[in-house]
Amino acid sequence: MTTGKINVSVENIFPLIKKFLYSDHEIFLRELVSNATDATLKLKHLTSIGEANVEYGNPVIEVKIDKEGKKLHITDQGIGMTAEEVDKYINEVAFSGAEEFLEKYKDSAKDSGIIGHFGLGFYSAFMVAEKVEIITKSYKEEPAVHWTCDGSPEFTLEPSDKTARGTEIILHIAEDSTEFLEEGRIRELLTKYNKFMPVPIKFGTRKETLPKPEDAPEDYKAEEIEVDNIINNPNPAWTKQPSDLTDEDYKAFYHELYPMQFEEPLFNIHLNVDYPFNLTGILYFPKLSADLQVQKDKIQLYQNQVFVTDNVEGIVPEFLTMLRGVIDSPDIPLNVSRSYLQADGNVKKISNYITRKVADKLKSLFNENREDFQKKWDDIKIVLEYGMLSEPKFYEKAGAFTLYPTTDGKYYTLEELKEALKDKQTDKDGKLVVLYASNKEEQHSYIADAKEKEYEVLLLDSPIVSHLIQKLEADNENLTFARVDADSLDKLINKDEEQISKLNDEEKEKLKTQLEEIVPKQTYTVQLEAMDSSATPFRITQPEFMRRMKEMSQSGGG
Ligand code: ADP
Ligand code: MG
Repeated sequence: MTTGKINVSVENIFPLIKKFLYSDHEIFLRELVSNATDATLKLKHLTSIGEANVEYGNPVIEVKIDKEGKKLHITDQGIGMTAEEVDKYINEVAFSGAEEFLEKYKDSAKDSGIIGHFGLGFYSAFMVAEKVEIITKSYKEEPAVHWTCDGSPEFTLEPSDKTARGTEIILHIAEDSTEFLEEGRIRELLTKYNKFMPVPIKFGTRKETLPKPEDAPEDYKAEEIEVDNIINNPNPAWTKQPSDLTDEDYKAFYHELYPMQFEEPLFNIHLNVDYPFNLTGILYFPKLSADLQVQKDKIQLYQNQVFVTDNVEGIVPEFLTMLRGVIDSPDIPLNVSRSYLQADGNVKKISNYITRKVADKLKSLFNENREDFQKKWDDIKIVLEYGMLSEPKFYEKAGAFTLYPTTDGKYYTLEELKEALKDKQTDKDGKLVVLYASNKEEQHSYIADAKEKEYEVLLLDSPIVSHLIQKLEADNENLTFARVDADSLDKLINKDEEQISKLNDEEKEKLKTQLEEIVPKQTYTVQLEAMDSSATPFRITQPEFMRRMKEMSQSGGG
């Protein structure tokens, strides 16, 4: 047996690791399973290029709880380590990683700006263990070794009689971390972080019923066998080629991601790029429920199939955070604060790429099947309108597929709308007047009047529509919007009908005076003159600008 001292300038790094990563103890398992996966994939690579003359087989990573012994085992069948490698990779490399991490984050680790996940690596085991053992046998013809460290910089290294290739990590779980000896807790962590990792992970066993044989006798009894309980899907949909996936596959993957989601997604967008950055993933447009606030099922960020976080703020443009799905990219820096993330060039490129892909997909959906797109419009419009207001790049592209529904169920693009209004809905300055209703029931009589005059009335009822209207007016000189209950209706040029009132002048004056006593004169206008040919006897209108001023002061400006 040899003993040694880990060469480290911070005398006792372990209490520091514990302290600074307090809220994130659970990531130790992700780190150790990631290492096991790396070791397995390295062996796969070495055998495939003929460097390692061993049978690769069907390696499995196993996580096992020894409740009595208060131990947690993580075992792989990967490349393993020789004594020399343990010294190099564990005593030096892994340690330097931990030390470097602490150097960097000593002062800022408590700063909430840091994303809650770090690549601390092997030494994160000491967040939950008072003693850690490594028993490992390299794929090379060399004896197995047994490394032990009790949380001080001293370690021991001795020979081991392990015969199977690979590495077993044994954590002696500390008194304050016994939650990690609970089956439920470990299953929860494996499901959270390792659900899509590329090597099968075994956690316990489960019973499986054998399929009934064709020639089964009448009194056939279903046979149960014990099988490995593999907790992950090593080949998730996003790692495959879009051409190899059907609509059903995409839907099935959606439910695999969000087992509690019963609603089908509206459509999906497969992301796949390898230059100038690496990114794969699948985004889904969900059928959003009315209460957007309570959205729990968020986009999940992975790195090489390892779950990192479901907080993608700063990586995905804000308007798309309402979507669901997966993004996997090794090029998103993790050990950094949010503000750094926003300034990072790669992250900006990634965000732009996602925006463009979403816009392209919407455009092709619109072009391929407009009718279907119209049916989905109500469910996607909030996201799109929000995107038009917040992302100039999206706004540029959105003109091709943004729809403006009318109160009677027609859908215009902006260009089509302009065409439709050209001859019948202009004001004295020659501007096209887009009449719209924000509430079909409340503005019912105004809509009826406008329709009688054969005007088009849009139904624009999303909460941010007043901002969108402003933007559209600013960008389209010849366009002006007026709510259907504004005073604009009678200023439209196209009123060739002669109007005959059923009331004589005296009666009209009397009615008008009476009405004006009820409604505040400064803000509203009572109109009797124009109403004679319509379904409504009179109308009370408000100048469009007044209503907007009021709306804006209510929504807190701008
Ligand atoms: P990283 O994984 O980022 O390299 P870690 O601290 O997690 O850093 O691990 C340090 C090194 O220890 C790894 O690079 C690898 O060489 C070695 N190692 C860790 N776990 C295993 C394992 N299960 N099998 C083989 N080698 C391992
Ligand atoms: Mg690692």
